[in-house]
Amino acid sequence: MKPISKIAAGVQASTTLAIDALFKQMKAEGQDVVGFGAGEPDFPTPEHIKQAGIEAIEDNQTRYTPAAGLMALREAACYRLKEDFDLDYTPAQIVVASGAKHSVYVTLMTLCDPGDEVVIGAPYWVSYSEMVKQAGAVPVIVTAGEEHDFKITAAQLDAAITDKTKVFMLNSPCNPTGMVYTREELTAIAEVCCRRNIYVIADEIYCNLVYDDKEFVSFASLGEDTKERTIIVNGVSKSYAMTGWRIGYTASNPQLAKVMASYLSHSTSAPSTISQYAAIAALRGPQEDMQVMKRAFEERRDHLVDRMNRIEGVSCIKPQGAFYVMMNMKSFLGKTMYGKRIESADDFAHLFLEKGLVATVPCTAFAAPGFIRWSYATSLHEIDKGLDRLEAFIKNA
Ligand code: PMP
Ligand code: GLU
Repeated sequence: MKPISKIAAGVQASTTLAIDALFKQMKAEGQDVVGFGAGEPDFPTPEHIKQAGIEAIEDNQTRYTPAAGLMALREAACYRLKEDFDLDYTPAQIVVASGAKHSVYVTLMTLCDPGDEVVIGAPYWVSYSEMVKQAGAVPVIVTAGEEHDFKITAAQLDAAITDKTKVFMLNSPCNPTGMVYTREELTAIAEVCCRRNIYVIADEIYCNLVYDDKEFVSFASLGEDTKERTIIVNGVSKSYAMTGWRIGYTASNPQLAKVMASYLSHSTSAPSTISQYAAIAALRGPQEDMQVMKRAFEERRDHLVDRMNRIEGVSCIKPQGAFYVMMNMKSFLGKTMYGKRIESADDFAHLFLEKGLVATVPCTAFAAPGFIRWSYATSLHEIDKGLDRLEAFIKNA
């Protein structure tokens, strides 16, 4: 047999989805496992959104839509961008895809040629580097440590840019760190991107999950030049508890949007029509359900962070957004637990799942060795159960 594609063979499977699959399998087998793995809201999709999906089926809205998505959905995305961030976009600038992950993917495929470089601030969401590789481009990782709140500086970005750099991947609030860039930090980053003439993919999927009354700043709102070169990625998965509906979208300059739509017309044709109707209801309808979810996440974060920092051997800094906490477990590196030497966060997380029956995500694949990500998109009861088990796991090791 001839070898398969080198690009495809070089892509790693998603750690987050692998852990989630293992967790769900263990649960199905009847094991009393607690899950902090995949980040997806534990709330059901709000009722009026579900009804819109049901009505779409009953109205026989079951055919193809334009490749860039229904006009009414693109208008609804424009409406939200104006309402939420005072940003002016036309439907010709919006492209709907099958989830925000797919939006990032199609954007990278549209912007990058083989050999182009894409700068990614680390810790980063596991899929970014793999999607860059899928586009034949090269991920260039710039790291920010816990002591810098996991946020890279404009100077670090400037130093990483070469003649080959095409794109900077920005994610605020960030998965996995939960950190939110301030207006000043983003303004400095925007200055670098404009001066060095690169595109910015601003993944703003967690824009509605920002706590402590901290300000969320949409990157495209920082000036006309910045807006021209920014591709906003957003979607309904996190804000409206709609991960399974698979709807994401981009807002960009119209030339780019046109090429993205052509690309999609030969790959997915369009996302599920039924999901698109539900997404219109999400973006146009009442936003109160989201506020209720947000308050619940904030309460869980406070509880998780407070308790975790009282457990001997681990610690975390307080995130300001999304629904993830980075647990520092470096004090266990090189130690032996349950007869096994802990060489990495992966060793710790695997043992914690096996002996403690708690699923978490080791952050090695997020370029953050020594950290384990806990998603707190789960109930306070489960959070307490997980932390009780962490205490016992460490004590009995
Ligand atoms: N961006 C980030 C930072 C995410 O955490 C996620 C969720 N995995 C996505 C994009 C993708 O969201 P979706 O489910 O809409 O594909
Ligand atoms: N955003 C989630 C996570 O990071 C979902 C899983 C995925 O798509 O990676 O866990």
